[in-house]
Amino acid sequence: AKHDGRNTFRFYAPEMDKRASERLLIENHLRRALSRNELLLHYQPKVDSRSGRVLGVEALARWENPELGLVSPTRFIPVAEETGLIESIGDWILRTACAQNKQWQDEGIPPIVVAVNISATQFRRNDLVRTVCAALEATGLAPQWLELEITESMLMQRPEHAEAILRQLAAMGVGIALDDFGTGYSSLAYLKRFPVRNLKIDRSFVQEIHTAPSDAAIVRAVVSLAKSMDLDLVAEGVEVREQLDCLASLDCHVYQGYYFSKPVPAALCASLLRQSMPV
Ligand code: C2E
Ligand code: CA
Ligand code: CA
Ligand code: CA
Repeated sequence: AKHDGRNTFRFYAPEMDKRASERLLIENHLRRALSRNELLLHYQPKVDSRSGRVLGVEALARWENPELGLVSPTRFIPVAEETGLIESIGDWILRTACAQNKQWQDEGIPPIVVAVNISATQFRRNDLVRTVCAALEATGLAPQWLELEITESMLMQRPEHAEAILRQLAAMGVGIALDDFGTGYSSLAYLKRFPVRNLKIDRSFVQEIHTAPSDAAIVRAVVSLAKSMDLDLVAEGVEVREQLDCLASLDCHVYQGYYFSKPVPAALCASLLRQSMPV
């Protein structure tokens, strides 16, 4: 039996073997993914339902490998983190998202914010600010059109470190969003200490919002928190009209989810952005 550090014992099982070898397989292929151009980004719009306008997009990593097929980021990002590959992959994601957003601006699309997910390992490193600066400089994107999505737990691990990093980024004009908000362990008193611009209500609260009063109550509380702290608010994972109506009745009007669009390749996203322009 193997001790996993939390007062429980896990017993060796054949499926652990399978998982370990699958992981090794991913790791081996992931090492070559960048040089073989197998990584790409999809973009999912954040829509303001009152105006119908796209306010921004979230960049979401995709990995297409000839042998493994399409690998979900929930499978390969953790491997990238544990192997240190996240350093080069994360840097590529940041640069590609910035370059894409700059290109859209150069094509005459009204400027929008591109949001990039930052992993815990990237956030823990000491060179995040330098990496972000380099990406902006290399692509010519102005800092106000970049937002970084981090999670509450990243703030709580080393609060002083987190505060210092976020203050530098905010001073540059880069936005900070708290992703999956409500699922972590943040103390609300802490929140005001960090220069956060945007809260993203986690999909788990949106999923049954129209049928579960407790989820609606949570969202109502987050809406009033965002209002009193002057934060932007986005609801994630809006799939059906009933969810949207319920969110709107709670005074939450910016949505990201399949109801409007799945994450799509850059070219398709560009046409969504053009459609969202006032004519
Ligand atoms: P996330 O940051 O919470 O991203 C939102 C996820 O929800 C995305 O999954 C998106 O495709 C999915 N989604 C959006 N709208 C809907 C909806 O209406 N219904 C449902 N059921 N799902 C929806 P995806 O792209 O598979 O990414 C999963 C997670 O992987 C992300 O969760 C994020 O934590 C991580 N990830 C993705 N791209 C990156 C990246 O570039 N860097 C890092 N560090 N992590 C990434
Ligand atoms: Ca995210
Ligand atoms: Ca999220
Ligand atoms: Ca999530």
